[in-house]
Amino acid sequence: MVNFIPQEKIVEIQHATDIIQIISEYVHLKQNGRNFIGLCPFHSEKTPSFTVNPEKKLFKCFGCGEGGTVFNFIMKQEDMDFVEAVKLVASKSHIDLSHLHNQKGAFSLAEKTRLISINDFVAKCYHKILLKSEQGRFARDYLQKRQINDQSIKNFCLGYAPDSWDTLIKICNERNISNKLLEKAGLIIPKKDRNSYYDRFRNRLMFPIFDARKQVIGFGGRALDDSLPKYLNSPETVLFNKSNVLYGIDIAKSTILKQRRVILMEGYTDVIMAYQNGIEWSVAVMGTSISKQHLKQLRQYCNQVILLLDSDVAGWKSSDRNLDIFIEEEFDVKIAHLPKDYDPCDFLVAEGAEKFLSYVNNAKDFFSFKVEMAASKWDMSTIHGKANAINDVLSTAMKMPDVIERNLQIKRIAEEMSIDEPALRIHLKKFNKQAPFLQNKQDIRHQLDASFMAQRELLYLMLSYNELIPKVVEEIGLEEFSNNNLFKIAEKIVELYHKNSVVKEEGVLHVLDDAQLNKTLMDIITTKEFQNITNQNERLEACIHFFKKRNTKKERRQTKEKTLQSIKVGSNEEDIIVLLNEFHKKNKHIHILKNKS
Ligand SMILES: [Zn+2]
Repeated sequence: MVNFIPQEKIVEIQHATDIIQIISEYVHLKQNGRNFIGLCPFHSEKTPSFTVNPEKKLFKCFGCGEGGTVFNFIMKQEDMDFVEAVKLVASKSHIDLSHLHNQKGAFSLAEKTRLISINDFVAKCYHKILLKSEQGRFARDYLQKRQINDQSIKNFCLGYAPDSWDTLIKICNERNISNKLLEKAGLIIPKKDRNSYYDRFRNRLMFPIFDARKQVIGFGGRALDDSLPKYLNSPETVLFNKSNVLYGIDIAKSTILKQRRVILMEGYTDVIMAYQNGIEWSVAVMGTSISKQHLKQLRQYCNQVILLLDSDVAGWKSSDRNLDIFIEEEFDVKIAHLPKDYDPCDFLVAEGAEKFLSYVNNAKDFFSFKVEMAASKWDMSTIHGKANAINDVLSTAMKMPDVIERNLQIKRIAEEMSIDEPALRIHLKKFNKQAPFLQNKQDIRHQLDASFMAQRELLYLMLSYNELIPKVVEEIGLEEFSNNNLFKIAEKIVELYHKNSVVKEEGVLHVLDDAQLNKTLMDIITTKEFQNITNQNERLEACIHFFKKRNTKKERRQTKEKTLQSIKVGSNEEDIIVLLNEFHKKNKHIHILKNKS
């Protein structure tokens, strides 16, 4: 986490902020006892499970698990980073941060805002040139030929960059927009002498690229002559990062959220034509492979992705796109193929929305696609080829974080590849030794585990009753936090406690720089059974008792093993007697502990 806003300032902002007022700007909240509830903006629901607690200044959705401080809310809602979110909250709460402006990074937000307004202005200029000017005629004809109508041109703010070296420079200079800023926005390019510039986009149909907040972050330009590349994009700027861009997300996000699914395509015009045909839940990635950032964005709206490919399997086989990333990120992904030689835009024009949707709705399951790809890649008539194909598919299956789903999938793969399931599992064992399992689902697997529950309760007690922290450290020790995430949180709590002698939930949330940890902590804070705790001292004793009992059992087991081992190797009698006594003592201890509980 970037930390150029001092921690004290962040705490001050949070104290001064009315979380109810801020979240109410986005969610209709109703009071319900001490809490406020509403329909969650992060998942689709009919009965409210989104809860805001004004005393603790925290929110939590019991439907999708999102939760955190007002900053976490703004980060997610506005798709901002932490510092941007803190600044936005500060400005909403009328807290002046101007004295921080000289510090590193603070400028970047001001610069970003400036570049966005320049992009916005330029998008409108290109749009006007397309619609109104003589120069734009050829582009208008092109759009008409491709059957993109006036409403779509307006909806997507399409434009035209004239066939000239300095049209944009002149327009902007008249408006006192400096060449330096235009260069930073990626709109103009310095000549070799670096004293003068020329327009980047010339004789191109312009597609402004909006982020989810409907801000123009960059442009794509399609050549209207033989110029190469056919599609020219903005270079990387402070605003524009190709592996982040989902073209059309601004216009499609609310429908995607309602449908809980999205069609992922490859071209601007595909998205535009889909929208024009009433299919308002598609986006496009920009030529690059699909990245984690793309999926992080999409996860806010849906969990099913339908990939619409215009090339056939052979084409995809040769591309190095990493589709396994959907599996790693636990998306339900399906693959749809249009008939050969059609891209989605042409297909929609030729065949219409209904037929298009029938392809989308009959999208193939990802693993069937994977099997098909593997089968076309290897020679399935040889044992060697078949083994390689199996490895290909298994390597994807092994990336599924959920054990149960993974097992079901392996069963299905055996069926689809006509392999005896036990044989496949034996093969898998060998395979496993090479590829380590993913562990992200650790929490879920441990949820029913008593030790895991006790560790969670301890964290709750430590946070809610700071005075218990020294006792936890002394009597149990942090090493008892065997769950890695819980250990990290415990460590932070103790660290903050030693530093400030008080530690609050939001304080810990501010220093956890990992979304998963954040979520784990929010789950603990909002666990109903914990909130009803009134006898914290007794609860702590119970936890201590639990760990002691468990440890004594473990020690007894170890002593027993040691004793048996000694007898086996023929150690001298005295040693064995010492060990047996020890074992007896451990046994007695367990009885005492048992009677106590
Ligand atoms: Zn939710």
